Amino acid sequence: MRTRVVVLGAGFGGLELTTILSHAFREEIDIVLIDKGDAFVFGFSKLEVMFGRQVAAEARHHYRDIFKPGVRFLQTTVRSFGPATKNVVADAGAFEADFLVVALGADLDPAATPGLVEGGNEFYTVPGAFALRDVLEQFERGPAIIGVTGKSFKCPPAPSETALLLHDYLVIRGRREATEITVVMPFGAPIPPSPDTSQAILAAFAELGIRFVKDSLVTALDPKRKVAMLSDGTELPYELFLGVPVHRVPAVVVASGLAADAFGWVPVNKQTLETRFPGVYPVGDVNGVGTPKAGIFAEGAARVVAASIIAQIRGGPAPEPYRGVGMCYIEFGSDQVARVDVEFLAGPKPTGTYQEPSEALKIEKALFGSSRVKRWFRTITRFVCMSRGYDPRCGVNFSFGGDCVRMN
Ligand SMILES: Cc1cc2nc3c(=O)[nH]c(=O)nc-3n(C[C@H](O)[C@H](O)[C@H](O)COP(=O)(O)OP(=O)(O)OC[C@H]3O[C@@H](n4cnc5c(N)ncnc54)[C@H](O)[C@@H]3O)c2cc1C
Repeated sequence: MRTRVVVLGAGFGGLELTTILSHAFREEIDIVLIDKGDAFVFGFSKLEVMFGRQVAAEARHHYRDIFKPGVRFLQTTVRSFGPATKNVVADAGAFEADFLVVALGADLDPAATPGLVEGGNEFYTVPGAFALRDVLEQFERGPAIIGVTGKSFKCPPAPSETALLLHDYLVIRGRREATEITVVMPFGAPIPPSPDTSQAILAAFAELGIRFVKDSLVTALDPKRKVAMLSDGTELPYELFLGVPVHRVPAVVVASGLAADAFGWVPVNKQTLETRFPGVYPVGDVNGVGTPKAGIFAEGAARVVAASIIAQIRGGPAPEPYRGVGMCYIEFGSDQVARVDVEFLAGPKPTGTYQEPSEALKIEKALFGSSRVKRWFRTITRFVCMSRGYDPRCGVNFSFGGDCVRMN
């Protein structure tokens, strides 16, 4: 019987893991990849769409375009799963696994912050970020706050990037003079593991007149008075509020017993990323290994877990332990991108290395995204597609006649 792998969540972590296993085993493995959505959107594309630099349709990578040997993608919602039995119940049916990968990300809860839904905006969900494109077009004057509402949140550079991109956006529209921009963050610096990166961001803020409020959370908005309440008891007026909503462990993961509560990210063996249940691995934002919540770390975790599954199936040696290594591109405005490389688990404390903003890094970031799309969504190596028009098995348009021919 083929080894059965069920992957819950087709985000950064789930897609990477599925791709590696499919490439390793082709039809000799049975992978069920489940997601409630119909398309993947990179986190950074949310900023691109909200600032009008990319259209929403281009940012969506449809799961119907996944064609991978050994992989079945199902668009359905996971309702429950048992880590001890490795059984999954979804709307589309029940599934049994030999290896269960939980890559369900973090749930976002704007309603947890009083006043945010009624009187503010958030840019962390796909609908929230995409809707902001129109909101920003209408924004003319007054204070703008980019405010974090919970201590643990995805992509720690994103609020700072948003402030720098908002500055550019308002300059282009001739509205910057009429606005003030403030960033409220729960850290003492924008990127704590890399003092150089933090310093560069703070220098850019100082130069562009962006205020940085450190060690604070936005706890509530009062839409009537148009003020944001901060955890230190102060209030800030706002005309435009761009929030990072509270992040929670997905309810289905808490119900499974893998997490103790909505803020207890799933505990794992830090070297293998396995839970206390053999063959059950949380990958990405949902795990509590101690790295930031970012796609690049989800990808790194997926690689270690995939290597471990491959070693167990083939009987090879265990892979190298997880080191919590990752990097992040940082939008600096003025069409420049910086980069920070961080290592979380190798030494006594996290370390980071900073690369100055440049156009070369902007190109590197674009290649980073396009290479993932190519790898995750199109395996056309074993097919020669000669059909006229769109063929979903190849995921590309062909303008000459014929059929999609399988080569192996
Ligand atoms: C504004 C912004 C900018 C960012 N920029 C970057 C960046 O530059 N670099 C970077 O590395 N990271 C960035 N990130 C973070 C990155 O997007 C996430 O950390 C990453 O996507 C996490 O991967 P994941 O696989 O853990 O979860 P996700 O990619 O969130 O995937 C989880 C999947 O699970 C599915 N799901 C959830 N519950 C269910 C259910 N019950 N049933 C079925 N399916 C379900 C969801 O639909 C989703 O597709 C950014 C995030 C934001 C918000």
